[in-house]
Amino acid sequence: MKLDVGAAADAPVALEQRIAALQARIANVARTVGRAGASVRILGVTKGHDREAVVAAIRAGLTEIGENYVQEAVPKYAGVAGVTKHYIGRVQTNKAKAIVDTFDVVQTVDRLEAGLAILKAVREREKPVSALIQVRIASDKQFGAEPRDAGQLAGRLRDAGLRVDGVMAIGPNTNDEDETRRAFATAAAAFAEVGGHTLSLGMSDDWELAVAGGSTMVRIGTAIFGERA
Ligand SMILES: *Cc1c(COP(=O)(O)O)cnc(C)c1O
Repeated sequence: MKLDVGAAADAPVALEQRIAALQARIANVARTVGRAGASVRILGVTKGHDREAVVAAIRAGLTEIGENYVQEAVPKYAGVAGVTKHYIGRVQTNKAKAIVDTFDVVQTVDRLEAGLAILKAVREREKPVSALIQVRIASDKQFGAEPRDAGQLAGRLRDAGLRVDGVMAIGPNTNDEDETRRAFATAAAAFAEVGGHTLSLGMSDDWELAVAGGSTMVRIGTAIFGERA
């Protein structure tokens, strides 16, 4: 009788297929709106999943990974090399050093003092961590700079010496596609003001609208790794 190892043995293949399928779908949506198929990067959001899942996803082809909590990321990401690590949680200034030690990109700079704290840590650690400006595009209790202030905030941080590569935003928690489209248009307008190469927009439930709206990076957790516990 054969040992039943089916599920475990298939898991890495399933992960690889899920990532490949997602990449293909993203490229398709990009092309339908006249964009290059490869113009949207995938950030694998690993929160709620263990280090084994992270390693498997990297083996399956992911090159960018992200976490919301420093404490959760430190043990999970230690020694994980060859990928770009993104911080997508709220920046607390007293955690700036730990954030800079653990991550390569801080997507969630939402105010001047957060950016300056990251810059100070970048200089102390001599590690070239870059930033995105997080803008608030939904009426719910989100963090983020006011979209109309994003350009000025980016300018002040760049003048101070921080590398700012674009904008990040979280879509509204709604099933109303028009509301989501409008919110994403606000993020795209802020990105046009800020400049840079990255508009980090779209998650498992709304990435298609985000890609149609100009996203250059979708942040995907559930659609790659499955539901979080
Ligand atoms: C959790 C999270 C994601 C991924 O969400 P999914 O719906 O699981 O794809 C993306 N961005 C941020 C900021 C998150 O907190």
